[in-house]
Amino acid sequence: MTVRVRIAPSPTGNLHIGTARTAVFNWLFARHHGGTFILRIEDTDTERSRSEYTENIKSGLQWLGLDWDEGPYFQSQRLDLYRQGIQTLLDQGLAYRCYCTSTELEELRERQKALKLAPRYDNRHRDLKEEDRAKYEAEGRKAVIRFKIEDDRTIVWQDQIRGKVVWKGSDLGGDMVIARTPENATEAFGQPLYNLAVVLDDIDMCITHIIRGEDHIANTAKQILLYEALGATVPEFAHSPLILNSEGRKLSKRDGVTSIDDFRQLGFLPQAMANYMTLLGWTPPDSTQEIFSLDQAASTFTLERVNSAGAKFDWAKLDWLNSQYLHQLPPEELVDLLIPYWQEAGYQFDPVGDRPWLIQLSALIGPSLTRLPDAIKESHLLFGEKVTLDEETSVFLQQSEAQEVIKAVVQALEATTTFTEVEAKEIIDNVTKTQKVKKGLVMRSLRAGLMGELHGPDLIQSWLLLHQKTWDKTRLLQH
Ligand code: GLU
Repeated sequence: MTVRVRIAPSPTGNLHIGTARTAVFNWLFARHHGGTFILRIEDTDTERSRSEYTENIKSGLQWLGLDWDEGPYFQSQRLDLYRQGIQTLLDQGLAYRCYCTSTELEELRERQKALKLAPRYDNRHRDLKEEDRAKYEAEGRKAVIRFKIEDDRTIVWQDQIRGKVVWKGSDLGGDMVIARTPENATEAFGQPLYNLAVVLDDIDMCITHIIRGEDHIANTAKQILLYEALGATVPEFAHSPLILNSEGRKLSKRDGVTSIDDFRQLGFLPQAMANYMTLLGWTPPDSTQEIFSLDQAASTFTLERVNSAGAKFDWAKLDWLNSQYLHQLPPEELVDLLIPYWQEAGYQFDPVGDRPWLIQLSALIGPSLTRLPDAIKESHLLFGEKVTLDEETSVFLQQSEAQEVIKAVVQALEATTTFTEVEAKEIIDNVTKTQKVKKGLVMRSLRAGLMGELHGPDLIQSWLLLHQKTWDKTRLLQH
C-alpha cells in the first residue's frame, strides 16, 4: 500500500499553529513511508474563505519546509463530485430533504434544553409524506439534505494514536446535514458541508491515513458512517493531541500568538519552529534527542510514539531551540536574516558596501541571540546609537581610576592612524602598565565607556567594529 495523506486547511484565517503541527505529522508520516503528502484547500464556505488566507497557508507551509507532492486542490472546484455523492445518497434512501425552518429547530432546542437533554435533531422529516413535501415546497421553504444516522449504531475504530475508540450513533446529534441550499441558489443543494465533502475527497484522492486534531473525533464517527454508505474502504484514523496553553486550555487567539506568521514575526527560525512542533506530541525513539531536522525526524517517525495527552506549549523550550539554531548559523547566513531588523530599527548602513562589517557584527552578536529581533538591542551601540548608562555603569565610570584609564586610552588612540586587533591589544597592555592598574580594570573601563554597560559580547571585537564604522575617538569621553 502506498501511503497517501493530506492536510486540509480551511482558508478562513492565517496558517494556525495547530494546523501547521498537523501538517508536520502528516509530512513526517508520508516521508517516513515514501508516501504522498497532499494539500487540499477546503474552501466550500464561500463567505469566510479568502484567497489571501490560501496564500498565507501555502507560504507558511513552504517556510516551514513542508513541501507537498500534490495540490493544492480546491474544494470549490470540485462541487460536481459532491453533488453526485449527494444524489447517490438520496437515490439510495440514505439521505433525505428536511424542510424544517430555523424557528422550528430553535423551538426543538429550547424544549430539549428545558428537559436538560443534549440538543439533537429529532429526525422529524425523515419519512415525510409526499403531500407534506409538496406543501413545504409550495411554501417556498428551502430544504437541507440530511444523512440518516441510526441511534442504535455503534461506531468503532482503532485509532493509530489513541487506540480503540467507540462512539454511539445516538451521541451524534440525529440525522446530520450534509448540504444546504444557500439563499439565491439555483441548485437544489448548492453547498455541500464539511463532513460530506471531506469524505468524498478522501475517497477520490485515495487517502490511506487521516491524521488530524482530536477536535475532529466526533466528525470521524460521522464520516465512518458516510464511508460505509458510499461503499468505500474506511481509511486509518489518527487523532493528534491538542496544543494547550500554560493553563492547560486549548491554545487560542487569547494567548496572543497562534498563527505561523506571528511566530515568524517574533523572530523564530523555520527550522526551530518545525523542530519544536514535532516535539509537541511526538517523542523520538532516543528520547534525549531534542534537536533534529524534519528529514531526521521523518526517518524515525511513527504514530505510536505520538502521545494522546494534550501537548503544553512551552515558550522557554521554543526559545532554547531557536537559540540553538541561531548559534549554529554561519555569520554569512545570519547577516541576511538580521539586515531587515536593523533596517527596520532605522540604523544607518549600506547592506552591500558594509557587508563585511555586518558579517563581523553578526559573528559578534550571534551567540547572544535568542530571537532575531534581539539583534536590534544587541547591536544598537555599534551602529552609533547614543550610549545610555545604567546605574551600575555610571557609578563605575565616576571612579577616578576609570576616568584616568579612559583618558589614557583616548590619548593612545589619538596617536594612532590605524586600528587593528594587534593595536587594540597593545593599547590595553600599555595603559595597564602606565596606569599601574589591573588589566581587568582597563577592560571594564573600556567596555563601560564604549558600550555603556559592564557585560556584553567580546570587547576587542566590539571596539574594532565600532571604530571601523565610526572611527569616533571621542566616544569614550561622552560620559
Ligand atoms: N478543513 C478541516 C479543518 O481545517 C479539515 C479537517 C480534516 O483534516 O478533515 O479543520
